[in-house]
Amino acid sequence: MTDARIALVTGAGKGIGRAVALRLAAMGFLVAVNYNRSEKPANEVCRLIRDGGGTAVPFKADVSSGSDVKTLFSDVERELGPVAVLVNNAGITKDGLLMRMGSEDWDSVLTANLSSVYHCTKEAIRGMVRAKWGRIINISSVVALIGNPGQANYCASKAGIIGFTKAVAREYAGKGITANALAPGYISTEMTDSLPEAARNTLLQQVPAGRPGTPEDVAAAVAFLASGDASYINGQVIAVDGGMTMC
Ligand code: NAP
Repeated sequence: MTDARIALVTGAGKGIGRAVALRLAAMGFLVAVNYNRSEKPANEVCRLIRDGGGTAVPFKADVSSGSDVKTLFSDVERELGPVAVLVNNAGITKDGLLMRMGSEDWDSVLTANLSSVYHCTKEAIRGMVRAKWGRIINISSVVALIGNPGQANYCASKAGIIGFTKAVAREYAGKGITANALAPGYISTEMTDSLPEAARNTLLQQVPAGRPGTPEDVAAAVAFLASGDASYINGQVIAVDGGMTMC
């Protein structure tokens, strides 16, 4: 790691984002814990990090809004410093078969999952170029690679993240910045715990590891990509899926 030490994790109050914030704090990063609705959980994440001797500050922002994101970055910069590691984790689902998918469900998922990545990366990149160092880690999904019935909006948003990641990786590769995407498989969080039991069992049958992943499994991959060991890994999509999508 360089002396650049500020990490911003979007949607860090719960689930995968929470595990990522805790893991990056354990690596010594000062963590900006973004949340939108989960204020109490985000405060709890910060308390846990501070109890462990780390530094963490909660920042409320709806990352689907460009103006919220601008304010978020100026607040983080003022309170902690320029963002060196950006983890674009925030995401939602609004599932439904295409025939019944209204344009609101399309727009809201694309905006929350993909436009948020554009807004945050755009705000982060200038400081990273100035520092000649940066790590952008985008949380996509295995469904971007293999599709999923009932998730045309979600799959499109997560596939969009992959294209965006590769473009940014090429654009800034010469500036000490890497951009990579993770494609988690079936990870046990509120997002998947809310699925009907039959759907969860069907998912599990597709996992050679025979268990759902944990948020910590994903956080471990983020930690690696944020570390000095990953400086020659750029523009990649790394599946964290217990073997679900192996060829
Ligand atoms: P989760 O427990 O439902 O958490 C979603 C997080 O996203 C929450 O912290 C939420 O924050 C945040 N978020 C949503 N919209 C936001 C917005 N507009 N602004 C700021 N934060 C926002 O889900 P999760 O499973 O941890 O998912 C995390 C990421 O992993 C998502 O991008 C998801 O698509 C991806 N993923 C998950 C799985 C899985 O199996 N769980 C698999 C592949 C990919 P608030 O509660 O504060 O609104």
